[in-house]
Amino acid sequence: MADCLFCKIISGEIPSTKVYEDEFVYAFKDINPLAPVHILVIPKEHISGASEITAENSGVVSKIFEAAAKIAKEQGIAGEGFRIVTNCGENGCQSVHHLHFHILGGRKLEVTMG
Ligand code: 5GP
Ligand code: ZN
Repeated sequence: MADCLFCKIISGEIPSTKVYEDEFVYAFKDINPLAPVHILVIPKEHISGASEITAENSGVVSKIFEAAAKIAKEQGIAGEGFRIVTNCGENGCQSVHHLHFHILGGRKLEVTMG
């Protein structure tokens, strides 16, 4: 999608620190980390957010979670644990409208669901 920040990161037009890539998924370090490990995992296909997941495009979500498990192991946070979060829409405080899953780990996270 022409005017999408994360589509530009996937294409390389905007630089990022890549931690994982396959045919379907791209993952990179968050520019403003909220934990010692803070990685964003995104589909290469533009999907604007969790509310736009459908029967046609939902396969990529399993690819994202497969990638997240690999990344957590590679980053050394699988054993102690981590969190995967996706924000959707205004009330969810989504700031970039390309579906993304935050992987947060490397410290004890707050007990909060909002
Ligand atoms: P959201 O608030 O939509 O759930 O998450 C968007 C995330 O993207 C934020 O954590 C923010 O720090 C990150 N982000 C925004 N712009 C950039 C960028 O240009 N590069 C990288 N690596 N992360 C970004
Ligand atoms: Zn996009």
